Order: sequence, then C-alpha cells, then structure tokens
Amino acid sequence: MEPEIHIRIADELLMFLPAARREPARRVAYDGTSTLGHLVESLGVPLPEAGPMTIRGEPVEPSSRPAAGDEVLVAAIPRPQPVPLETGQAAPRFLLDVHLGTLARRMRLLGLDTAYHNDMDDPALVVQANAERRVLLTQDRGLLRRRALWFGAYVRGSRPDDQLRDLLERFAPALEPWTRCTACNGPLVPVDKRDIERELEIGTRRSYDVYGRCADCGQVYWRGAHGDHLEEIVRDAARVVAEARPNGTGQARATVSE
Ligand SMILES: [Zn+2]
Repeated sequence: MEPEIHIRIADELLMFLPAARREPARRVAYDGTSTLGHLVESLGVPLPEAGPMTIRGEPVEPSSRPAAGDEVLVAAIPRPQPVPLETGQAAPRFLLDVHLGTLARRMRLLGLDTAYHNDMDDPALVVQANAERRVLLTQDRGLLRRRALWFGAYVRGSRPDDQLRDLLERFAPALEPWTRCTACNGPLVPVDKRDIERELEIGTRRSYDVYGRCADCGQVYWRGAHGDHLEEIVRDAARVVAEARPNGTGQARATVSE
C-alpha cells in the first residue's frame, strides 16, 4: 500500500483548494521526501497563506518532512499578522499588483505607504517588494508561490471595501489618514490656502479648506466634494484596526529572528 499521511487544512484556507476537493480533512499519498511546505502548496495553498503547522500536535516548520501515517494540521495565519519593521518604521510598507488600483488609493488615503504601478510584471513586483521590504498584496496565487518573495499576502474579497477590511484585519497597521497623495503615494505637506488660491476653482475656493500638497507630484488636496465618503472610509478603517488589535492599542510588531 502506498504510504500516506492525514492532513487537515483550516477552514480559512479551503478557498485555495480546487472546488471539487474542498474538504478540510483528507488522506494524501506521500513519497517520503517532500517537505511539508511543498505538500501544502501542491494542495493549492500558497505558503505565505499557510499559518502554523503541526505534526502529531508538535509545531513544525514547513521545511520538515512528515512520516507515513502522520497527522498534519495546517492553520490559517493568525491575525493580526506581524510584519518585520525596521528601526523607526511605524507601519508596514506595501506593494500592490496591477489589479488592485482602487485598494491602493484607499490605503494611501489612510496614510499607508503603498506602492502601485498599473504596468508591472510579476518578476518586477518581486524585485521591488524585496528591495524595499514591502508586503506584496495580490490575488494572484502564482505570484505568492514565487520562492524569492520575502513577504506576500493574498487579498480576500472582490469589492475594494472588502479588500480594505481584509487588509486592515490582517495587519492592523498604524494609520495616518490624510497624509499621503492618493495618486502617487507622495507625502502631503501643509499649504496655506492663500498660496494656492489661484489654482483653485472659485467654487472650491469658497467651500473647502485646503490641507495639503503632494511633495512629489504637486497635487493639491482639500476636504470636500467627495469628502463625506472619504471621511466615512477613514472612520470605518480606524474602527476595524482598533477591533483587530488584541489590546485595542499598539502596533502589531514582529519579533524578528535573524
Ligand atoms: Zn502625488
């Protein structure tokens, strides 16, 4: 009889399995040489989405090899998920793939350092994510399977509202709303309304208070027009992050082991 192991996948990860084989517990034929990580990926779960694993109840690394007959458990990533931060870095930095443009703008509205290009291929995304220590956000499972990628995450949801909530619940990042250009990610610097009055439409000049100019692209921002909608996004985001943090305060930090 071919050796096999018993493997149980957390409910949150079943979405990665082919629809016809989406049951949490299964027997899997095992060749005795593959690592646990390889096995999990061969079932359809990208490794960046796989949480803590155990064999017979003992915590193990994805690089370990089960033995025939072993019981393997694969949990979901615990939330909030810590991201290694450099000294002085308050929140994780992100890089979004080409399909997540709307999410990128919303993240920038919240002050999250969010790189996004609408024309970047997969290898280039991995290079930039690694070089700038940005968490790569994507809905492309193939991209998450790239070995070279230092830190990736699958974004759940098809609507930007749902994607943003998923991201905030997952990382509970420190927010600094109204500090970044939603068009280019540059920092906003305060401007005096009188200094840019000539650039504004008359209606704008009368109704709204200017609050910033992008240091990189020069775009001027004021609250108003779509302000109510944006204020609502910011308010909701702050609540989601507060609820996602175990104590209600404090940044989810990684204990970096290097
Ligand atoms: Zn800008």
